[in-house]
Amino acid sequence: MRNFTPNAAGGAIHVDLDAIVANWRLLYARHPGGPVAGVVKGDGYGLGAGPITAALYAAGCRHFFVALLDEALAIRDSIPDAMLAVLGGLLPGSEPEYLARGIVPVLGSLGEIDAWAKTGTASAILHIDTGMSRLGLDARELAILQHDHSRLRGIDLRYIMTHLVSAEAAHDPLNHAQRRRFAEACASLPTAATSIANSSGIFLGENFGSDLARPGAALYGINPTPGQRNPMRPVVRLMGRVLAVRDIPSGATAGYNATWTATRPSRIATVGVGYADGWHRVLSNNAKAFFDGTPVPLVGRVSMDLTTFDITDHPTIAPGAWLELLGPHQTPDDVAAVAGTNGYEILTSLALRLPRVYHGA
Ligand SMILES: *Cc1c(COP(=O)(O)O)cnc(C)c1O
Repeated sequence: MRNFTPNAAGGAIHVDLDAIVANWRLLYARHPGGPVAGVVKGDGYGLGAGPITAALYAAGCRHFFVALLDEALAIRDSIPDAMLAVLGGLLPGSEPEYLARGIVPVLGSLGEIDAWAKTGTASAILHIDTGMSRLGLDARELAILQHDHSRLRGIDLRYIMTHLVSAEAAHDPLNHAQRRRFAEACASLPTAATSIANSSGIFLGENFGSDLARPGAALYGINPTPGQRNPMRPVVRLMGRVLAVRDIPSGATAGYNATWTATRPSRIATVGVGYADGWHRVLSNNAKAFFDGTPVPLVGRVSMDLTTFDITDHPTIAPGAWLELLGPHQTPDDVAAVAGTNGYEILTSLALRLPRVYHGA
């Protein structure tokens, strides 16, 4: 974590750790079947896995998931007695590092199962593919394992898990198909605790409950129920610093390729956040910022380090002012809708050039 020197940065990401903890507690209350893990892969969805893991751990969270062994190694020491699992599976030869650091691999093939079984009695999670075709045992490997449980000998099976393809689409029949396939798979495997729901899965109802939920996005304020009111607390504010202000005549243009022309004498604020910060170029002429809760239109092309805003109607904005680019007024989901992506990608795109400033917890 870098120290935050306000006058050295073109912007800053404020992360509300209390809101993340409140979101975790809300998810916990919605998942009566068992505990709720924290998914902190992708550097905590771009917001900083270290402080987020520490805050969740202090609140009582004892199960964490990351994508890669590297990500697990980075946080292992801060959560010594928590389960820390690697979703990406067991790469050949990495067994000693898992064992030495007490990290739990999510096994997704017979080859990984055999490699792990050889290490002696060690914890693992077994991943069953019920429709994602990405990771997890496929139908052929599952059938082999169902007829030969001995391959799991020597493995302390903490959970059997699967991952939903379209949990955020509550009416997609795939959700129930996957639930049935998973129940069938578990029925002919050794008895173990189960793990099904991601963020949106928790809101699919009790049929999608399990012994351990694995939410990521909702912890960070992304709406797990698209199209309905967001039940989560906002977590992130991306603030951009006004570096310069200028008055331009009617007919002048702003930014590369002159894609915006002033239709009246206008005042332009240049903010020190651009696409190198993960503030995507596709937002050119298409998004806004907020100042004191009121919208300020983004005009012209977003460039690498700078974005221009029309502040003609905001005479109090001066160099040094902060504009809200992401926050309660314009959520990651809102910006994603303009950019043609999802809130996950908006958050994980935020570059390390932007200092992270932590509040609460
Ligand atoms: C990323 C991931 C999650 C968390 O998903 P969200 O939609 O962010 O809640 C859970 N399980 C697996 C296997 C994942 O890859």
